[in-house]
Amino acid sequence: IEFEHCGFPSMLYGNLKKAGYEAPTPVQMQMLPVGLTGRDVIASADTGSGKTVAFLLPVVVKALQKPAEGVCSPVALILTPTRELAIQIEKQAKELVMGLANMRTALLVGGMPLPPQLHRLKSSIKIVIATPGRLIEILKQKALQLDEVKIVVVDEVDTMLKMGFQQQVLEVLEQVPKKHQSLLASATIPAGTEELASRLVRDPVRIAV
Ligand code: AMP
Repeated sequence: IEFEHCGFPSMLYGNLKKAGYEAPTPVQMQMLPVGLTGRDVIASADTGSGKTVAFLLPVVVKALQKPAEGVCSPVALILTPTRELAIQIEKQAKELVMGLANMRTALLVGGMPLPPQLHRLKSSIKIVIATPGRLIEILKQKALQLDEVKIVVVDEVDTMLKMGFQQQVLEVLEQVPKKHQSLLASATIPAGTEELASRLVRDPVRIAV
C-alpha cells in the first residue's frame, strides 16, 4: 500500500516526499484509511512506529476541509503529555502543511513563557498542539475556544495517566463539542488506560502494531 492509495488530497504528497516519507509505516497503513473515514481509533503504537504522522494526516485533511473560523477557534486539538513530544508533533505537522494556505499551528505547552503562546492565538489557528496543564490555563483566560474542534488526538494515553493528567484531559474534552472524531495512541493499553480511552471514543476501531 502506498500513500497514494490512502485517499487523502494529492496536495499533501509533495510534502510527504519532501519530509522523506516514501511509503507508509504499518501503523500508518492501518490508521489512515480508517482515520480518513471519520471513525474513532484507539491505536496501540509506540514511539518510532510513525504514529505521529498516522494521526496527523487525518488531522490535516480535516483542517483542510474546514474554512478558518477566525481567531482562537481551532479545528483540531492534539493533546500530548510532555513539552518534548508536543515540539516533535508540531515539527512534523509543519512539514505536512508546508506551503498550504491557512493551516497555522499553535504550540501551547508548559515550561515555556505564556505571552508568546497567547500572542500566537491572536492569528487564525487551525491546529493546536498542547499539554493539558498549559491548555487549561489558556482556556481559563478565554484566549482559546474549543467549540469548532472537529478532531481530537490524545497521544500517549498511558503516559497521560502515569503523569496524573486524567482529570485534566477529561476537563478539556468537556469543552469540545460532542460530535468530533477522536484518535488515541498509547504504547500499551492496560486496564486503567483502556478505561480512560473508552471514555474518550465512540465505537472505535482498534489498531495494534
Ligand atoms: P513517531 O513514531 O511518530 O515518533 O515517528 C518516528 C520517526 O519516523 C519520526 O522521525 C518520523 O519523522 C519518521 N516517519 C514517520 N513516518 C514515516 C514514513 N512513512 N517513512 C519514513 N519515516 C517516517
